[in-house]
Amino acid sequence: MKHIRPPRPELEYLVPYDAKDIKAEVMLAANEHPSNLPGEIVEKIAGRLREFRFNRYPDPMAGRLRELIAAANGLEPHNVLIGNGGDELIFDLLLAWGGPGRTLLDCPPTFTMYAIDAQVSGTNLVRIPRGPDFEVDGEAVLARLAEGDIDVVMLSHPNNPTGTLTPETLLIDILNATDALVLVDEAYFEFSRHTMRPHMERHPNLVILRTFSKAFSLAGLRVGYVLGHEDVIRELTKVRQPYSVDSFAQWVAATVFRERVVFQQAIRDIMRGRDMLMHGLSSIEGVKVFPSEANFVLFRVAHAAALWRDLLHGHSVLVRDFSRTTGLEDCLRVTVGSDEENERFLEAVEDVMSQRRAVEILGHTEAHVRHGTAGELGY
Ligand code: PMP
Repeated sequence: MKHIRPPRPELEYLVPYDAKDIKAEVMLAANEHPSNLPGEIVEKIAGRLREFRFNRYPDPMAGRLRELIAAANGLEPHNVLIGNGGDELIFDLLLAWGGPGRTLLDCPPTFTMYAIDAQVSGTNLVRIPRGPDFEVDGEAVLARLAEGDIDVVMLSHPNNPTGTLTPETLLIDILNATDALVLVDEAYFEFSRHTMRPHMERHPNLVILRTFSKAFSLAGLRVGYVLGHEDVIRELTKVRQPYSVDSFAQWVAATVFRERVVFQQAIRDIMRGRDMLMHGLSSIEGVKVFPSEANFVLFRVAHAAALWRDLLHGHSVLVRDFSRTTGLEDCLRVTVGSDEENERFLEAVEDVMSQRRAVEILGHTEAHVRHGTAGELGY
């Protein structure tokens, strides 16, 4: 055969998620932790590496890690499911609660995987745009839920990429208004310190997502988890890949979780770094900063795509360009890095912006001179 039979027609207009594997000296584009795992944890793992059974399949349900997470959250292991990063669990939720003839509601601009996974799983997508300060439009969401056809709601809390928290009262109103599964995505919980966990008992349709990728320096190993009613977890186990979380990732994540107090200082440092970035950016002329409860800061600036390029090519600083996303025109997102990285980023932005101003002034002067000359010559 010379031809390949086409795939599902839904894929025709789907663009693969572009994680942009661009290298730079200062990497502030993916909301990762600025530091590798603490040395003491790496040593603990290294010391026992020889005994590690690479030849055996993993525990499909990641029992040890599951128990630890359940206990820390005052839940039973049957309320927890571990996944290959939060990403896999979002997909599993749509495999189980979405699919053809079913509908997901999200509030853009938000985490793009919700919409991508909706398309891949054949789920209809209803989008209720956020307001001018990226707040969830509660009235519109509740009105849409009242129509009764929404099967899943996904809300990033705080919202990536805007950093916005949704008021707890609105989240409760949403939970009361629907029997749809409501995913409150707390990927940045360790920075926002706000969780909907206390509402799980009263709202069996509430599912919480967390990850080891941000506050726990483990983006490279892919470990996330959901907390939910045991009936929800049972359905998710029907659609998940049984061995998606490998045994090495389970082991390292369990070690990290047991030692999690070690991460507290770094989390505080990141929050301090976030305040420094917000303060530094807002003092640069022409930059508007949005408040953030996560480990990143969104800001708006004229010709953002050009700034993104200049930061990368002129200063080897990589941030995330959202300027082509609806609702985020002229917006860039910077992840909080180490103090040195944050300073380098701020200096780079200041440098590019002051060069811009110089060019503008030069442009004005030239125009003025040209105009003046023309006037003198009587043209
Ligand atoms: N939810 C949100 C809101 C995120 O920003 C991310 C990471 N970009 C995830 C979920 C998934 O994280 P991971 O797959 O690394 O656990």
